[in-house]
Amino acid sequence: MIGFYGSYDVVVCGGGTSGVSAAIAAARTGAKTLLIERVGQLGGQMNFSGPPGFSFAHLFNGRHEQIIAGLAEETHGRLLAEGNALPHVLAPHRVHYTFSYVDPDWWGLLVYRMCKEDGVELMLHSLVTEVVRDGETVKGVVCEHPGGRSIVLGKVIIDCTGEGEVCVQAGAEYEIAPLEILEPATVAFTADGVDWKKVVDYMHENIDDFLFNQLHNPYSEWTEEKIKERVMEINDILEIGEVMGYLGLKRHATWTGEWHNMSGVGFFLMPKGGRLLAHFQHSSQEDRCDCTNVRDITRVEVECRRQNMMAWRFFKKYVPGFENAYIVRTCPEARIRETRRIMGDYKLSFEDIAEARKFDDVIGKSAFPTGAKHAVNGRALALEAMAVPKDLGSNDIPYRVLVVKGLENLMVAGKAVSADRPSHQRFLQQTIVTGQAAGVAAALCARDGKTPRQLEDDVKELQQILVSQGAILYGTH
Ligand SMILES: Cc1cc2nc3c(=O)[nH]c(=O)nc-3n(C[C@H](O)[C@H](O)[C@H](O)COP(=O)(O)OP(=O)(O)OC[C@H]3O[C@@H](n4cnc5c(N)ncnc54)[C@H](O)[C@@H]3O)c2cc1C
Repeated sequence: MIGFYGSYDVVVCGGGTSGVSAAIAAARTGAKTLLIERVGQLGGQMNFSGPPGFSFAHLFNGRHEQIIAGLAEETHGRLLAEGNALPHVLAPHRVHYTFSYVDPDWWGLLVYRMCKEDGVELMLHSLVTEVVRDGETVKGVVCEHPGGRSIVLGKVIIDCTGEGEVCVQAGAEYEIAPLEILEPATVAFTADGVDWKKVVDYMHENIDDFLFNQLHNPYSEWTEEKIKERVMEINDILEIGEVMGYLGLKRHATWTGEWHNMSGVGFFLMPKGGRLLAHFQHSSQEDRCDCTNVRDITRVEVECRRQNMMAWRFFKKYVPGFENAYIVRTCPEARIRETRRIMGDYKLSFEDIAEARKFDDVIGKSAFPTGAKHAVNGRALALEAMAVPKDLGSNDIPYRVLVVKGLENLMVAGKAVSADRPSHQRFLQQTIVTGQAAGVAAALCARDGKTPRQLEDDVKELQQILVSQGAILYGTH
């Protein structure tokens, strides 16, 4: 039995960072907007497993000019005013990086408020399982939810599921890297109650155990000596976030079978309750996960939890400072870094980023380097086709990467937008940029009775509205 839920101007499928941005932007542009989300929580990966201090990185380019604002800046600014974010910071130990930390829990709560303020209708606990098509035109989606199944119709449908689920249901063309090199999937957990003084003392006494990964970055000016000098200057864990280490202890424990070399650990700083706090986070990692294969994803869920428990025992047994620590948060599901990239009317390329290319149909900017990849089989592929935008600037993201090739009335935003592998637009700030632009564009199409493809002919109003919503589109940076 299938029911009819309603008709909307814009239907956004998936309520992660891209989805809430798309829905809020569409509603602000005057569209009757429905946001459909599989679970009860909004924010997607930001809230599922974000470390306590998840950050928007690269809101600034390598020359420290701000290149991303819009909803990323707005949510960061609102949380900062409430004491739930940190001011934008340069990260001297991370080359060309800037961090804008937000508390993911508060980000998740904020976007519910924003959806209400802007009039976004929510349909939660609803899984989009099919599309309604008339030839090449997508007319709506079918959802499964408590109580049965419903049809939702929309003038424009935006796929923000992260995995490009709706596009694939509609028959869109996509690319995916071979299983052997797909970035690993992860289940993260967070612990508190760490004796940070003991941690810092241990760092000073075992300095070789704490080398930042930037040593392997060809753009890094950090030498081993400089890193050691910096670590010795640290008196309090709050003086430095994102420290990774314990290399010697982990080597030993790998040899005794007490550590799994695919796991990552780090300390993250975050304002909590008006104070700056440090938290410990462990991320298990498992390779060869095609998230569309239920056997793979089941294996990964089980294996990642095995690694989590192994890591916890290791820290309790070997690492000074963890004697009284306790787990405060475990991610409810394995999270996927890399899956399909849906092909659009334009495919963002390695050269576009390396050359810091500008486009007439710009809908936002990005300064993230190409090729930044997580370790696979314990082997970092970070240097694969890596380039920072020319002159430490930024590349434009063109509107056409959001328009799904060969289909009408269907757009994609978030990590599945059209790009080649090195240019994968999966980082939080990029997903907000593409989400916001897709939302405004879809609202304009619904208002004017145009398809997203027809809008490609004239994107001036789209750009004007994005700028009025705070987005940065122009400038030499
Ligand atoms: C472990 C891990 C660590 C990361 N660390 C960082 C980091 O430090 N910095 C950074 O910038 N980026 C990081 N990323 C990348 C970034 O967090 C994600 O790529 C980004 O959040 C993706 O946003 P999205 O909106 O495209 O998808 P998601 O956030 O995954 O949102 C998709 C939403 O769609 C919903 N959904 C899926 N299918 C359906 C369906 N069929 N019907 C209805 N709803 C559906 C999901 O429930 C989810 O809420 C990390 C990613 C992972 C996995």
